[in-house]
Amino acid sequence: MSADVHIHENTDCLANTYSRYPVLLVRGDGARVWDSDGKEYIDFVAGIAVCNLGHCHPKAVKALEEQARKLIHCSNLYFIEPQIELAKRLCNHSFGERVFFCNSGAEANEAAIKLARKWATERYGGDRYEIITMHNSFHGRTMGALSATGQQKFHKGFGPLLPGFKYVPFDDMEAIAQAIGPQTCAVMVEPIQGEGGVRIPSADYLTALRILCDEKGILLIYDEVQVGMGRTGTLFAYQQYGAPPHIMTLAKSLANGVPIGAMVATNDVAQAFSPGSHASTFGGNPLATSVGCAVFDTLLEDGVLANCQEMGLYLRSALSDMKEKHKGIKDVRGKGLIVGVELEYSGKEIVDRCLQRGILINCTMDTVLRFIPPLIITREDVDCLLTTLDDVLG
Ligand code: PLP
Repeated sequence: MSADVHIHENTDCLANTYSRYPVLLVRGDGARVWDSDGKEYIDFVAGIAVCNLGHCHPKAVKALEEQARKLIHCSNLYFIEPQIELAKRLCNHSFGERVFFCNSGAEANEAAIKLARKWATERYGGDRYEIITMHNSFHGRTMGALSATGQQKFHKGFGPLLPGFKYVPFDDMEAIAQAIGPQTCAVMVEPIQGEGGVRIPSADYLTALRILCDEKGILLIYDEVQVGMGRTGTLFAYQQYGAPPHIMTLAKSLANGVPIGAMVATNDVAQAFSPGSHASTFGGNPLATSVGCAVFDTLLEDGVLANCQEMGLYLRSALSDMKEKHKGIKDVRGKGLIVGVELEYSGKEIVDRCLQRGILINCTMDTVLRFIPPLIITREDVDCLLTTLDDVLG
């Protein structure tokens, strides 16, 4: 069935929550995907920063197949071997000492919000529940994560939100210092804002935040759902800024497309949770965590991070060179392979035209073209993007 027929005749059954392109993707391999008409695309979206190793990476597929034959699911009432293995990997390579697994970024942030409140209750009594987050942040769509998200457009029509969130401008230490009060228990921040328009903070922002949080006796939470697991060229984005948090959330690329989320915390903070405090039926299940282990090892062993750094530099420098020629480009920014091109105008038409030419890209905050390809992207594929963009922007 052609994509057109399929889409027009069969999609009334879906909830109307996405404005989708009229494309039916049916297959993927590396940085390429194909639609039901056989058209090939180079994928600079990667499931929105999910398929870091590319589509259907052989090591992820192998882990999935092998685990599916052994044990797909069992309850967290019992120990789960690949869950322990993935937790060990996360702790060995980060500040973390304890991991709670769930199934998505929003859920990981819900866990972080709950843990911060519980920690503060145990330490200070019940009055410290407020979490400070940033303007233009994005933390997910469940009620807690939505309330943490500092963008009114996502709140509209869903009130009342969860009380206890205060929003301040991103990368503004003075605003945070003023906002912290006797009821504050944590500051929650994306080390780089993804949905907010690929916003990179000043080099010393996270370190200053950590110092301030320690002075005030409150927690620092990093939402690395979009930028964690190698996206910026290091395993975690915070590692480039030098300041570890007390809690970090992950999801998206943790298992390269198999649904998973994780909240990583220090021992001292994590001890606020005890059996019954929090749970998830599917969280950390054997299938997702065995793929997570394979993805983790591949990221570190196969030169993926080095390629991410190299291709990120190459892409950003070539895009910056385009600024001279295309006056509509206002700014080029990014780290590793999360790259944004801010335009003077809406990027929607650019995305549409790239799609027609077989390049998938994404636009956020209306004017920021966002490039978040698999970290294994080649120079040839980047060159294809650059040629197409040059043409389309012209
Ligand atoms: N946090 C950040 C920084 C994100 O970018 C996203 C999704 O884009 C989320 C949280 C929510 O993740 P999920 O859609 O898996 O719930």
